[in-house]
Amino acid sequence: SATDETVVLPPVPAGDPAASRSATLDAHEVSAWFGDHKVLDRVSLNMPAQRVTALIGPSGCGKSTFLRILNRMHELVPTASLAGQVLLDGSDIYDRGRRITHARREIGMVFQKPNPFPAMSIYDNVLAGLKMNGIKAGRGERDDLVEECLVKAGLWKEVRDRLRQPGGALSGGQQQRLCIARSLAVRPRVLLMDEPCSALDPTSTRRIEQTIGELSDEVTIVIVTHNMQQAARVSHQCAFFLAEQGTPGVIVEHGDTDAMFTSPQDPRTSDYVNGRF
Ligand code: ADP
Ligand code: MG
Repeated sequence: SATDETVVLPPVPAGDPAASRSATLDAHEVSAWFGDHKVLDRVSLNMPAQRVTALIGPSGCGKSTFLRILNRMHELVPTASLAGQVLLDGSDIYDRGRRITHARREIGMVFQKPNPFPAMSIYDNVLAGLKMNGIKAGRGERDDLVEECLVKAGLWKEVRDRLRQPGGALSGGQQQRLCIARSLAVRPRVLLMDEPCSALDPTSTRRIEQTIGELSDEVTIVIVTHNMQQAARVSHQCAFFLAEQGTPGVIVEHGDTDAMFTSPQDPRTSDYVNGRF
């Protein structure tokens, strides 16, 4: 349990880009299995600080598995195994002696389906990660943190007068922004997002995309999306995953988003980004 230690909240970045906690994430020759079924084969990808990296590719090619490896959620599946390294600013999150809770705190995750605690107040939802991580904060500090995170998630104006209402009372798009605020409260260095807009309407999608753009100065973002326009709008670089005919997923091509969309090097990338899959 994480409650046996008190962790001090890292300092607020205070809008200063130089104070960003954004870190570089490096996957090196990552392979993954579920039982005997190999689903990723030696995937390497550099995800730079202060950048948005989009993972694209057809369903079943291992994008979610890769994302879950990046914050040690993969190992929660009893049959799952992996090889390779994941480096956060150069240090391996899988090193012996490094706690899984540490990786989870540094590297947050937002899922396709918004999952706030529905009966818990909006205020307490934002702070839920603190308790889980054994982070102590005084009343004033908590109030400030709730406001700061809701502002960053683009939700503050809509909920500032109803912070005691349950999270479940919000619309789907608002719930997703609440989940983003909750992720930010523990001051992660990386935010992983697995198709965060797939369950949302176009207006909510745009608002989340705007939030992603604003957050990328402060936190490294890795987003899985099957929406090519979205990848083009929000990301600086793209990685195209593919698993052909029962073979494990690989990265066929990666590079700057503009280049990937205008002059893809591999014909399979070209087919995919142009909707021919
Ligand atoms: P994507 O996110 O690109 O759609 P996934 O990472 O979800 O792909 O899945 C990659 C492969 O791993 C698929 O063949 C899928 O069936 C398999 N897979 C995913 N999760 C599990 C699991 N918990 N147990 C067994 N196989 C899984
Ligand atoms: Mg997926």
